[in-house]
Amino acid sequence: METEGVYGPFLEWLKQSWYGVPRPAEALPLIRARYTEEEAAFLTGMPFAPKPLDDLAGLKDMAPDDLREMLDRMARKGLVYRDEKQGRLRYALNDLFFGMRAFGWPGRTDERTRAVAPPANRYWEHGFLDPWAPVREKGLRVLPIGETIEDTRDVRPYEDVVRLLDSFQYFVVTVCPCKHVKNLDPNEPDCSYPTEVCLHFDKLGHYIVDNGLGREITREGAAAILRKSAEAGLVHGISNQQEGIDTICNCDPCCCMWFTALFKLRHTGSLTPSNYRVHTRPEACLGCGLCVKRCPMKALRLESQAAAKNKKGVAAVLDPELCIGCGVCVYTCKGRSLKLQPRETVHDPPRTGRDFAFQFMMDHQAAQAEGTESTRNSR
Ligand code: SF4
Ligand code: SF4
Ligand code: SF4
Repeated sequence: METEGVYGPFLEWLKQSWYGVPRPAEALPLIRARYTEEEAAFLTGMPFAPKPLDDLAGLKDMAPDDLREMLDRMARKGLVYRDEKQGRLRYALNDLFFGMRAFGWPGRTDERTRAVAPPANRYWEHGFLDPWAPVREKGLRVLPIGETIEDTRDVRPYEDVVRLLDSFQYFVVTVCPCKHVKNLDPNEPDCSYPTEVCLHFDKLGHYIVDNGLGREITREGAAAILRKSAEAGLVHGISNQQEGIDTICNCDPCCCMWFTALFKLRHTGSLTPSNYRVHTRPEACLGCGLCVKRCPMKALRLESQAAAKNKKGVAAVLDPELCIGCGVCVYTCKGRSLKLQPRETVHDPPRTGRDFAFQFMMDHQAAQAEGTESTRNSR
């Protein structure tokens, strides 16, 4: 593996984070493009958990003011996490996964950002997403479009959009990193879906706005983005945990890394489905085929059916195994012949982010021990 100069030790250091550096040789072009030599050298050894500025100044043997200027600059590039606790500034090195989300959030189009997009897209498909293949709980869980659930009386709190929005204090929107990185890459087709659609809340939202990576919006603004996304056919995806939810993504089947994992890398269940599934009523179907076009999972088709009352005699038919319960098809069905109904078995997400990370580590380590990860990713 080519590990020139400062990038070799930096890559070894990044491997210590929870996400590590899958397929390091494939990661190297991205890391070279993303970090300058000075940044890579400086960040080697930087802790992944937030540490007060004064402690870091001791560690780096630097004056706190000089260090602060340097770290603030890197925080605005999404290389470093920055927050304030009990009046003290804290910083941490962003791991590769979070750092690549933060890279795309501001939607920059300068020369350096453009240089990162092609190696990022190559690495997405050649290593970056590998750790997700064997884990049971995926990075995002499908959040059903609120209006598409037939009976909302027993909806779980983490699947109730209105209650979720009411639970947040601070609302932020960023550009979607998956779409932005594809749009910047001349080797990839442009994405026609809206791009400023990633919603973040509370603590994560403050990190994003305080470091110039996104902009503050209102609760109504967040609700409007969810409506716009539903109209466009984007799938709502939420942090896969019950407490401490900080993100609602709006994902498209062409650029989203989870759909890439599904369609190109054949990771089964690359998004954790919601607790709902579509129910079809052929007698109400108009046979228009809009749901077939909109379904990101290709779970619907039109078929001749005796119960169909439209002139063509066709109605939508569901492949239940493919349905992730997003409601994208239901949202625009003019015949009102589709509805989301609860699945037979309810599957709750991990309770906290810590539980999620623990589950991820256990599944990932078990797969590595069994050698299943490389098998499932052979392509
Ligand atoms: S996961 Fe979905 S919304 Fe989030 S960044 Fe990717 S495509 Fe965008
Ligand atoms: S289910 Fe709805 S959207 Fe699909 S073909 Fe029938 S009427 Fe059209
Ligand atoms: S049929 Fe397709 S669009 Fe409709 S809820 Fe299922 S996955 Fe979503």
